[in-house]
Amino acid sequence: MKYVIFIPDGSSDYPIDELDGKTPLQVAKTPNIDKLAQKGFGGFTNNVPEGYTPGSDVANMSIFGYNPANFYTGRGPLEAGSVGIDTTPTDVIFRCNTITQKDDTMEDFNAGHITSEEAAVLMDALNEHFTSKYDDFKGKFYAGISYRHLFVYTCDNEEDANLLANLDTVPPHDISGENLSEYTGWQDELAVKIRDIMYEAQEVLNDHEVNKKRVAEGKNPANMVWLWGQGLTPKLPDFKETYGLTGAVITGVDLLKGIGIFANLDIVDVPGATGFFDTDYRAKGEYGIEALKTHDVLIIHIEAPDEAGHAQLIDEKVKAIERIDEFIVGPVIDSLEGEDFKAAILPDHPTPISVGTHTRDDVPLVVYVSGKDGDGCTSFDEEGVKTGSIEKQEGYKLLSRMINEF
Ligand SMILES: [Zn+2]
Repeated sequence: MKYVIFIPDGSSDYPIDELDGKTPLQVAKTPNIDKLAQKGFGGFTNNVPEGYTPGSDVANMSIFGYNPANFYTGRGPLEAGSVGIDTTPTDVIFRCNTITQKDDTMEDFNAGHITSEEAAVLMDALNEHFTSKYDDFKGKFYAGISYRHLFVYTCDNEEDANLLANLDTVPPHDISGENLSEYTGWQDELAVKIRDIMYEAQEVLNDHEVNKKRVAEGKNPANMVWLWGQGLTPKLPDFKETYGLTGAVITGVDLLKGIGIFANLDIVDVPGATGFFDTDYRAKGEYGIEALKTHDVLIIHIEAPDEAGHAQLIDEKVKAIERIDEFIVGPVIDSLEGEDFKAAILPDHPTPISVGTHTRDDVPLVVYVSGKDGDGCTSFDEEGVKTGSIEKQEGYKLLSRMINEF
């Protein structure tokens, strides 16, 4: 038996006036996904436990089969795992966005989707600045992809590390246009150090050559870093020991790779997988087909609908869903023709166009089982699965339910 889970990130939505009261999932032409829905089972699920913010990290940890309430320690640590940064129990790992601030407000949480090359130069400049200015600087910046970077702060002891890990930090994409100092009014001594690092970084970045060039080209400068999503290194049980199945992950996003790495899943790197609108859908599909030849489970994640949701671009969101259908779901399902397999498709969380960020609403879910008749749900979208029979349960149970119940 093979298992495939397709995750069109943030694809579910609310009805949109411009789409005649329909959602992007309803409007997008998705013949392959429709087939799965019409022959499969439909319903709703929720990947974000009560009390958690609906981040892709928490939500996808659920889809990977791990209860975030037991295993989630933060977004930063998951991404650190994905890039092979070795951390100790006293390390607190932050996500570090290169952002554009203007008059101390969050002008752009991704600094105009700065290139990885430019950002790497800026991260180097920050390390250089802090280590040369302070003899005992305990932090280090690690350059990642585009605007998504990491900052590791080594505490003196585990008590401090726990304290810093629990500091109330805010995702930068949730405070667009808002005043930054409102979200950094911490009193604790350690926390104040973190704030000082963000603001001191401004001084280094403001006049950096990379930013001067970006401004001259009409692009947003990466003139500050925003530290958030921090935590200690998580301990996920081994996927194969937990489920008795081998698994592979395809994603362009570091934090999902991190979940995969901590779960001891194989990460399949796909050239051209950018985690943005222009991700190479066809290549993802092709690598997915190959991965299924050597693994029992394939988790294939596509970030583009989420990015379109954040950017509030209706057409991009619809297009992303259509491309996922044509280049990923269609070819992967075709390649399994004649085999016993189960396939699920679901977003991790909604990223409604009207909201521009994640919400914690339930998400539509379709599960298809080869050779088995489904429950007559009509399509994979917020309306179509309403007639389905899947009982809503915690998202982290999906994988074991796929194995045991369908
Ligand atoms: Zn997401």
